[in-house]
Amino acid sequence: MRNMDNNADHTNWITCYVGLGSNLANELGSPTEHLEQALAMMRAHEQIREISVSSFYASAPMGPQDQPDFVNAVAGFETTLTPYELLAFCQQLESMAKRARLRYWGERSLDVDILLYGEAQMVEPQLTIPHAGLGERNFVLIPLRELAPSLAIAGKSIDDYSQSLDWTGLRLLSGD
Ligand code: ATP
Ligand code: CA
Ligand code: CA
Repeated sequence: MRNMDNNADHTNWITCYVGLGSNLANELGSPTEHLEQALAMMRAHEQIREISVSSFYASAPMGPQDQPDFVNAVAGFETTLTPYELLAFCQQLESMAKRARLRYWGERSLDVDILLYGEAQMVEPQLTIPHAGLGERNFVLIPLRELAPSLAIAGKSIDDYSQSLDWTGLRLLSGD
């Protein structure tokens, strides 16, 4: 007998957001190219689907000021990866961009942070979700709001966070 459920997708797909940043070119590409390459890897991942990507932004660096501006973007998608599997994938993307740890909050060819993983809330040594800096960083909140204006983060609407944010140090990059 034909099983009517044959094509049903019972897998649990979780809606996630990651923040991408780069301010260092290397032999693999420019900051914008590092972001594009990471997004291509996400698009190719079997356990990631329905990807949407914000505009690309330029932002003034946090921490040491003697480093170039960052290129930042946020990507939203659905995934069947667990939080730690997603963290490992983010770190794999950083390795593929040949990220080197030079100094705290310093220049890097690629940084990929998990911002939100469904409704998950966790504070563990290796993984804090929502990302600890999310509420204070305009270069994360403004692209996130672009993708998901009615998103709730830990019970607060995104506008509750972004009201305290302006575009200081942030600028929209054209063509992305
Ligand atoms: P920040 O986290 O303030 O943006 P950073 O991105 O420069 O700083 P990293 O050196 O890239 O920090 O990461 C340090 C560690 O943060 C990672 O090894 C990872 O285990 C941990 N971490 C905790 N929560 C998260 C998260 N939500 N996404 C990515 N990494 C996280
Ligand atoms: Ca970061
Ligand atoms: Ca990081």
